Amino acid sequence: MSDFEVKDEKSCKTFSDRISTQETKIEEPTINFSKKMMKKKLKQKKWEETKAEWRKRKKEKAKIKKIEKRKKLEEMKIPFTKLKKNQTPSNIKVIIDCEFDDKMVDKEIVSLSSQLTRCYSDNRRSSFPVQLYVTSFGGRLEERMRTILKNQHMAWQGIEFLGENYTALHERSDFKENEFIYLTADSENTINELDKNKIYIIGGIVDKNRYKNLCLNKAKSQNIWTAKLPIENYIEMASRKVLTINQVLEIMHQWIEIRDWEKAFLNVIPPRKLPQSKKANKPDQSFENLEINHLEYEDIGDLS
Ligand code: SAH
Repeated sequence: MSDFEVKDEKSCKTFSDRISTQETKIEEPTINFSKKMMKKKLKQKKWEETKAEWRKRKKEKAKIKKIEKRKKLEEMKIPFTKLKKNQTPSNIKVIIDCEFDDKMVDKEIVSLSSQLTRCYSDNRRSSFPVQLYVTSFGGRLEERMRTILKNQHMAWQGIEFLGENYTALHERSDFKENEFIYLTADSENTINELDKNKIYIIGGIVDKNRYKNLCLNKAKSQNIWTAKLPIENYIEMASRKVLTINQVLEIMHQWIEIRDWEKAFLNVIPPRKLPQSKKANKPDQSFENLEINHLEYEDIGDLS
């Protein structure tokens, strides 16, 4: 046997051995692989056959969920509105009382309509939108919103416009149990928290502080409890503590979300009205927000 043959034989043996061992080694994963493939193919086939049905069922489930959500909102007497995922409807009701048409000049009616628009858009963006009602909606405000503003308010969601005054709402079952609180800077009472069992009224008037005690006297004559926001407990104000309608609503939104009056005031009140916090004079992040809010207020046009 030549060297070559021996080598060859050896190598052949080794080769065939190797093959056989390799074969057993390779064979197993091949079977596994094809089994897997078979399974995959079967699964795919089954999916192809059933996917239409599955999608149909998924759609039906989503529809049922949507109907249930809408029913729940109806039960809670919350006007239906398309909410974003991060939004939770709040049970707090806020009325904007627009029974002051004869007290404003045309320019102030324009500001009032801007403030109302701002209230609506803030409420739509808020993490905890309140239930909004505009009462005594009529006169020049209604005319402006119907004509110049092209009836856009008719498409607004989560807000109700009523021609009657707010006493008409007391007849409704979702209002019957709850007490009205007229918010006014002129009140001797201060609210410390917002209560879902109360209905808050904001005076729908822009008067550049011409009519002091206007809303206070109106509420008193109707035996409605009044209260101011606890501004002086938390911050110093550069001027009178009378805010715009949308600022009051935004402070309410902020409080519902963060339960902190000081931060709520700092985040909403424009810096020109607000020198500093009473609790701490440290400059904090809120001042950055103030800058943004300030700009926003300037940008939106005449709100005051
Ligand atoms: N002269 C009006 C002021 C209108 S300001 C009046 O008699 O109230 C618009 C509305 O915002 C007010 O009617 C009130 O409801 C609300 N508001 C403004 N500042 C407030 C404050 N500091 N506390 C509570 N409500 C306030």
